[in-house]
This record gives sequence, structure tokens and C-alpha cells, in this order.
Amino acid sequence: MNIVVKDKEFEIYLSAEKINQRNSQLGQAITADFTGEELIVLGILNGSFVFMADLCRYIDLPLSTSFIKVSSYSGTESTGKVRSILGLEEKIEGKSVLIVEDIVDTGISMDYLLKALSEFNPAKLSIVTLLHKPDAFRFNYALDYVGFEIPNKFVVGYGLDYDGLGRNLSDIYQLSTP
Ligand code: 5GP
Repeated sequence: MNIVVKDKEFEIYLSAEKINQRNSQLGQAITADFTGEELIVLGILNGSFVFMADLCRYIDLPLSTSFIKVSSYSGTESTGKVRSILGLEEKIEGKSVLIVEDIVDTGISMDYLLKALSEFNPAKLSIVTLLHKPDAFRFNYALDYVGFEIPNKFVVGYGLDYDGLGRNLSDIYQLSTP
């Protein structure tokens, strides 16, 4: 079933059920890998808020949660511009930090984040991203946990927006090819 968000047509790509199943698997893997560590789950706003809320309930460990903001692009094409980190209130020095992203596309935002957060000397800096576009990725750093590798097409829903809209959709939709 196709939907319209603002002025573009999108088709269903990942159902809420599929996402939920994958979140459970990711949560189990993270639980196994971080047992015994002081874990901070750090969501990157705005896109990760839905994924973060669901994922952290599948991590069966004592953990703290925090959110920060890094600029992202508007529209459907990356401008490649990244600003700065806003809202890092938690002390991450000596702790295991799990960065939670909705999507790693070119990897520019995450590259910036890894460098900026490393300066605070966390004991461990890991990444979980729900979506990854390997064909657009321009870097070599490891993405520790990836929900789904997807083609290089614009997606919306489950926290991801198109010009501010569509974050509340339960499923993930892909831009329809005309
Ligand atoms: P990157 O720096 O990896 O190119 O892009 C990171 C950010 O761009 C993501 O956190 C997200 O906000 C946005 N982004 C990249 N691809 C998409 C996409 O297909 N759909 C949406 N809604 N946002 C995207």
C-alpha cells in the first residue's frame, strides 16, 4: 500500500513486525556483549527516538539513557554539512557508550560523532543503527550492530522524517520510483 508524505509517494518497505523482531535480536546481542559494563545508551535526536525506545526495552541490563543532537540534512539529499553536538550532559568518561542511530547513510554524521565523543574518553564507543545504506557509505569504521542494510533510496517512518513529517508511522516506507 502506498502512502503520501507531504508531496511524495512512498511504498511499504519494512513492517513494524519485522522491525520488532530485529530489535529483539539486536537487544539480545547487545545484552550479551555489554554484560558487566557500565552502559550508557546514547540516542541521536531526532530520528532515533522511536528505535531507541523500543530497542532499550530489549536490552536486559542495568543501563542509563541519554539523548544528544547533531544536525542532519533536510529534504531527500545530504548537504554533507554537520554542525556540533548539543545536549551531552551525561559524563561518559570511562563508560561504555552505545550510540543509537536511525540510519547511517554517507556516514558523515557518525564520523563526526565518533571523533567528538572520543574526546570525552569513554571506555568503549559502539554503534547500533537500525538502517544502513552500504552503497552510500564513505568510511571504514565499523558499525557494530546493524538492523537492516538497505538500498540507496530515501526512507521514512519509525522515527525517520521527510521534511519533519512521517516520524510517527509504525512501518518504514521507501520513496516510490515513478
Ligand atoms: P549521513 O551523515 O550518514 O549521510 O546521514 C545521517 C543522517 O541523515 C541520518 O541520521 C538521518 O537523519 C538522515 N538520513 C540519511 N538517509 C536518510 C533517509 O533515507 N531518510 C531519512 N528520513 N533520513 C535520512
